[in-house]
Amino acid sequence: MKKYNFSAGPSILPQEVIKQTADAVLEFQGEGLSILEISHRAKYFQPVLDEAEALMKELLQIPDGYKTIFLGGGASMQFCMVPFNCLEKKAAFINTGVWSKKAIKEAKAFGEVVEVASSAADNFTHIPMDFEVPQDADYLHITTNNTIYGTEIHDAKLFEIYNKKGSVPLIADMSSDILSRPLDVSQYDIIYGGAQKNLAPAGVTFVIVKEDALGKVTRHIPTMLDYRTHIEGGSMFNTPPVLPIYSAMLTLRWLKANGGLQAAEQRNIAKANLLYDCIDSSKIFQGTVQTEDRSRMNICFVLKPEYQELEADFMVYATQCGMVGIKGHRLVGGFRASCYNAMTLEGVQALVDCIHAYEAKI
Ligand SMILES: *Cc1c(COP(=O)(O)O)cnc(C)c1O
Repeated sequence: MKKYNFSAGPSILPQEVIKQTADAVLEFQGEGLSILEISHRAKYFQPVLDEAEALMKELLQIPDGYKTIFLGGGASMQFCMVPFNCLEKKAAFINTGVWSKKAIKEAKAFGEVVEVASSAADNFTHIPMDFEVPQDADYLHITTNNTIYGTEIHDAKLFEIYNKKGSVPLIADMSSDILSRPLDVSQYDIIYGGAQKNLAPAGVTFVIVKEDALGKVTRHIPTMLDYRTHIEGGSMFNTPPVLPIYSAMLTLRWLKANGGLQAAEQRNIAKANLLYDCIDSSKIFQGTVQTEDRSRMNICFVLKPEYQELEADFMVYATQCGMVGIKGHRLVGGFRASCYNAMTLEGVQALVDCIHAYEAKI
């Protein structure tokens, strides 16, 4: 049976990226060697890294003065690397859920942390916008898409944040919505994320960093945690995660061949509208997030209170329909369909058909 992968992360990748990765595992570019066994220093791998970086620059229109680096450690490592490199006295945070909270916790070890806004009181069902940024903060940190709660900072609120931050640098965790839409990178000092949501298999982290933003803190930074090490080393200071970087490069090629980020955004809007319309018109399901902040990437829904007891039954039914990974995070409950770039409209339609069929049968 055909399976539809709605997992939150690691998550769906384009079929052709998986096939090409598999080919390279067997034999890398006709060299008689697997990508698993080539030296990262050899002539083979440098072009992959160069192309991945160039495609990031092209697709995201990254201005000069920025570098894209590929590291290990996941987005979680960035929760400490960012303050290590950039927090001298004070950092401001918008708290939009679990991942923001983890970033806040790490930053506290490096300086004063001001939580300028939080939607904790509403179980993070919206993006809080009632805030002021202290102008002496070293940076403002945001999480643009909240994978667990299914909220996303859409353009209108992003633009408002760009205005409100004043002269304070902006740093963003974009683990789960990078490359899902066009972005004004010039508004940020650092953008980072684990690649396993929208870009690659687990094991690589992307960091887009403005070079001018570095070198401003007085503390000693351990070599491996200093962004400058990896910029100077061209992501090759130590052995990079070769295979996930290769897959990331393939995904970037796929994105470019399919019309770039404008086209990706249109596809993501169409998919999200299809599923949210189904949820909104459902007799048994309802959404969990304030409408204007609904994520296009992670679509959360629950059974209406009067149908709560159907939860396990629907899970079984959906699994029989080929749906994978739609169980909601335990902090939200219910269901979550992650519709990253590689999810097709046809896949979302299959989930909608499954929901309709279930409703018809109960
Ligand atoms: C998944 C996720 C993380 C954690 O990423 P790791 O690579 O597992 O450390 C951080 N932030 C957001 C928004 C995420 O979705």
